[in-house]
Amino acid sequence: MYNLKKRILVSGGAGFIGSHLCERLLKDGNEVVCMDNFFTGDKSNIVHLLQNPYFELVRHDVTEPFLAEVDEIYNLACPASPVHYQYNPIKTIKTSVMGAINMLGLAKRVNARVLQASTSEVYGDPKVHPQQESYWGNVNPVGIRSCYDEGKRCAETLFMDYHRQHHIAIKIVRIFNTYGPRMHPQDGRVVSNFIMQALQHKDITIYGEGNQTRSFQYVDDLVEGMIRMMATEKSFIGPVNIGNPNEFTILQLAEQVILQTGSKSKIKFLPLPQDDPQQRKPDIELAKKSLDWNPTVQLEEGLSKTIAYFKTCL
Ligand code: NAD
Ligand code: UDP
Repeated sequence: MYNLKKRILVSGGAGFIGSHLCERLLKDGNEVVCMDNFFTGDKSNIVHLLQNPYFELVRHDVTEPFLAEVDEIYNLACPASPVHYQYNPIKTIKTSVMGAINMLGLAKRVNARVLQASTSEVYGDPKVHPQQESYWGNVNPVGIRSCYDEGKRCAETLFMDYHRQHHIAIKIVRIFNTYGPRMHPQDGRVVSNFIMQALQHKDITIYGEGNQTRSFQYVDDLVEGMIRMMATEKSFIGPVNIGNPNEFTILQLAEQVILQTGSKSKIKFLPLPQDDPQQRKPDIELAKKSLDWNPTVQLEEGLSKTIAYFKTCL
């Protein structure tokens, strides 16, 4: 029977962003195959989708070849928190590089579109501010973040080469720091750490002096941007920055979290990890123009939704 629903594969679909993406794709009337090895993802993130007959969950490692007849692929499989991607750095780079090869190979075989969840980390510790897509970055190839940064850079290269050599329909989005419900409470990233610490009235751990900056994007805005990117005409491949350009110091974030949780936590300063980028803010002109997209959820509103979620994790 002719099926109007699109069949969409989401690798890393049981993770924080992947679970929101699966949910939204189902809501839009698609069939979703969620593939995950549950390294940092969790069944609890997608358990509410398991009753849906158009949702399939497959336990699989993206470093191994995978076959499914799908129309679109979102490649998100990769740990994203520095704590998790540095836990087994060799596996991290294999996941990015072999995962990209396997997802591109699948796209080639079944003639699917494939979108790569790349990252602002491809800009490293940027010397250009804000970061435009045309900036080539300032990445240490031999540091403790390299397994992730260089893995994601190599994945972008593979996407471009499969596009040039085999004419695969690719899309590359560079995601800037994203937060929201279903981040793992012990994820180690700054938003989840600060909220969990504040809710338990523990010390808020600032690495360095807290004057490094990040620009925080709420997950719903990202999902909207990714879906719009996938729907663009074939000739538009990116890379496109997807992020919220409102920039905060880490100290400002800590103060905002304390305020919004009404916490008695005190701030504790700890050493800054090696190669920690000093500033980060996306230039989103390309996304605005090409995707007619703009982030709509600002930090205070996004934090209050995220705080409400983390209260359920205590
Ligand atoms: P996450 O850790 O919650 O999700 C990653 C998912 O991939 C998890 O479900 C994990 O189990 C799965 N995974 C990891 N290795 C795998 C493997 N070998 N095979 C199959 N599945 C595997 O992190 P997230 O924040 O949801 O990130 C999702 C994607 O977005 C990642 O590719 C990440 O690099 C990218 N990204 C995220 C951010 C952010 O701020 N959250 C920023 C830039 C890029
Ligand atoms: N950070 C911090 N305290 C924490 C966790 C992170 O001060 O408990 C800092 C970290 O050093 C970095 C910023 O917050 O400067 C963002 O860190 P995260 O791990 O969330 O993401 P990334 O560095 O990959 O942007």
